[in-house]
Amino acid sequence: MIEILSPGRLAAARTSGALVADILHTIRDRTTVGTNLLDIDRWAKEMILRAGAQSCYVDYAPSFGRGPFGHYICTAVNDAVLHGRPRDQVLAAGDLLTLDLAVSQDGVAADAAVSFLVGGTGDPRSAALISATERALAAGVAAAGPDARVGDLSHAIGTVLTEAGYPINTEFGGHGIGSTMHQDPHVPNTGRPGRGYRLRPGLLLALEPWVMADTATLAIDADGWTLRSATGCRTAHSEHTIAITEDGAEILTLPSR
Ligand code: MG
Repeated sequence: MIEILSPGRLAAARTSGALVADILHTIRDRTTVGTNLLDIDRWAKEMILRAGAQSCYVDYAPSFGRGPFGHYICTAVNDAVLHGRPRDQVLAAGDLLTLDLAVSQDGVAADAAVSFLVGGTGDPRSAALISATERALAAGVAAAGPDARVGDLSHAIGTVLTEAGYPINTEFGGHGIGSTMHQDPHVPNTGRPGRGYRLRPGLLLALEPWVMADTATLAIDADGWTLRSATGCRTAHSEHTIAITEDGAEILTLPSR
């Protein structure tokens, strides 16, 4: 299903998006050497419930997982990249942490992810991975607008990732979002321009370039959720929810401060 939001529902999407962004950036600021991933999950839970929002994750039980996710935020460290299930793990200086969060408020979901180095510094190759996904995300947003096609966004994202030297996995990518967290259309992180669904004002998309340094192959943890690079290399992931507008695209998951 592809959902086009009315102006009133778009206002709800802005509320959800701002909440996602504020929670992610609050947690990013609070996370330091010695933080436990379970602390991060507790912080996310507290902030979601305090805002009167609903977690899109805690009861999420897709076919590929083993039962409900059971946590409020995804925490992926170093070689983990997607669906990172919080566990009893203490962060060290230079760890590459990805936080991915989706919440729903007033019936509209928003989804965003950010990668950063714990303690603020780390090896240059990790910083380059993060930078590539951030630049790919910006390119995808810049390509979005009414009459653009999904393939235009995919091509813009994929060009940045490929030029940065990273292989691209197309099993997981961006997606429509609205009443539910994952909707059509799928937005692969590489593709051909001029192809695919034509975007329209009122469409919400979550764009989410992610990369693994030296492989396109994923491995899954025993928890049935956390996806890691098959080679153990580091990974990064950046995501925003955007709304297609009459003259371009509006990023809904920018922090309000
Ligand atoms: Mg997403």
